[in-house]
Amino acid sequence: MSQRTLVLLKPDAVKRGLAGEIISRIERKAGWKLTALELRTFDRATLEHHYAEHVGRPFYEPLLEFMTSGPSIAMIVEGEEVVPGIRMLAGATNPLEAGAGTIRGDYATITRENLIHASDSPESAEREIKIFFPAHA
Ligand code: ADP
Ligand code: MG
Repeated sequence: MSQRTLVLLKPDAVKRGLAGEIISRIERKAGWKLTALELRTFDRATLEHHYAEHVGRPFYEPLLEFMTSGPSIAMIVEGEEVVPGIRMLAGATNPLEAGAGTIRGDYATITRENLIHASDSPESAEREIKIFFPAHA
């Protein structure tokens, strides 16, 4: 089923020059296409909204600090099964548990700085697209 999803290339991805590599992995999947893309340093309010489910967790404050530390790239990607598909390309949240061949498995080591966010369901995708791309909601 064709879906859309919200992808963030986190500040570590941009800072380390991995954005092109990650985008090209996504672009090469048959039938997937980028329909919005923006480079932006997110403000705290935007991320509080995005990460609302994690308020109060021990990693929450350091996560927001990291996510506001520099520019990220936000994207909307559309295509066949793109929601589970990009979660699979990204790999497990903890890069040490992510398989070889996944973005996190190949390029990240610590859980906070794990390069990429991808919506975990079509419902999350619609909620998150409203936050980052209100014009596309
Ligand atoms: P995912 O991004 O895989 O959906 P979560 O929604 O559980 O993972 O967490 C959101 C983000 O918070 C993670 O991608 C990671 O950057 C950070 N995070 C999650 N758990 C931890 C943790 N135990 N320690 C440090 N950072 C974490
Ligand atoms: Mg999540």
